[in-house]
Amino acid sequence: MSATERAIASAEAHSAHNYHPLPVVVATADGAWMTDVEGRRFLDMLAGYSALNFGHGNRRLIDAAKAQLERVTLTSRAFHHDRFADFCTQLAELCGMEMVLPMNTGAEAVETAVKTARKWGYRVKGVPPGQAKIVVAANNFHGRTTTIISFSTDAEARADFGPYTPGFEIVPYGDLTALQAACSANTVAVLLEPIQGEAGVLVPPAGYLAGVRELTRERNVLFIADEIQSGLGRTGRTFACEHEGVVPDMYVLGKALGGGVVPVSAVVSSSEVLGVHRPGEHGSTFGGNPLACAVALEVVTMLRTGEFQQRASELGDHLHHELGLLVGGGAVDAVRGRGLWAGVDIAPSRGTGRDISEKLMDRGVLVKDTHGSTIRIAPPLVISKEDLDWGLDQLRAVLAGE
Ligand SMILES: *Cc1c(COP(=O)(O)O)cnc(C)c1O
Repeated sequence: MSATERAIASAEAHSAHNYHPLPVVVATADGAWMTDVEGRRFLDMLAGYSALNFGHGNRRLIDAAKAQLERVTLTSRAFHHDRFADFCTQLAELCGMEMVLPMNTGAEAVETAVKTARKWGYRVKGVPPGQAKIVVAANNFHGRTTTIISFSTDAEARADFGPYTPGFEIVPYGDLTALQAACSANTVAVLLEPIQGEAGVLVPPAGYLAGVRELTRERNVLFIADEIQSGLGRTGRTFACEHEGVVPDMYVLGKALGGGVVPVSAVVSSSEVLGVHRPGEHGSTFGGNPLACAVALEVVTMLRTGEFQQRASELGDHLHHELGLLVGGGAVDAVRGRGLWAGVDIAPSRGTGRDISEKLMDRGVLVKDTHGSTIRIAPPLVISKEDLDWGLDQLRAVLAGE
């Protein structure tokens, strides 16, 4: 048995089978590259679903974490600590907002957004008690808690996990008329991904986000943008909403906010909205801890220069140009995305997304399939153009059946 087979057999025996990983066992990583337990190197074209926008072992982020590890790592929110204010101030400023509520995982931040919107609905908008409604889109992915899967349309994510939380209405993504019809007097929020990641990197029709902004403003409904995967540089802008010049009422952030080092998530909004919370009503033992704040503050500092956004934009144009050439050649049915983020629909004749992912793995490239026939490409934004081109060469070879 190889070291890889031993590690996988042992993982399968002693961990729940809630994932189906590719059969590679990573031992170390640097930049856009990972090395497995047998010394093989792989180009990481997934980047931890965008948690690793700044690459593996990013020097600035590791240094920030190391320095903070030697100072203080956890206080709980029972006390103040000296990294908290800076983090909240700088993140709010990056977002053009006023207040931050830090949590840990993306799902927790979405839960926080849901609770905040409901409370705002009752206290500010004047919705009758218990009647608040939140409109969401079909094929959404917002996380895995019982409330969040209650408004998922993915049968796999929902089955056997009920009873489900009420108070959500689902409309087709990209359909403004349906959204308009769903917004009633008791609607407190519209919660959307500006680009649907897990659904296969679905970019909404031009004008949709701007239309959502206009409609929600007219109806006194909060526009919550879940930018957990689309935000923080991935699409070539700090936020995917920027591509339509839209500023939502609330950003939900996670993944890259923790720099691939620690889980950090946050809701960022106005003081009118986040100001509804009072002590004791919501919180998290680890949310906003010193280590998380130190790393996330460095992430925010890095994003302020715009260099990562610029890189994602330029390399993204190149990526989409190259992928576009594959469409219509028989192997690829469609390509979608923005910046360094693409969903590639593989023609069924060439195998499933999983088949293609495994063949790419054999050639030293790691991607992830989604919804059967799609592969998702989202390398760290620090990837070099040469490495990106090499990765694309491997994809072309696999699609050509080589
Ligand atoms: C990953 C993701 C989440 C959930 O984040 P977790 O940290 O896995 O809980 C929520 N929304 C979007 C858009 C995501 O991509």
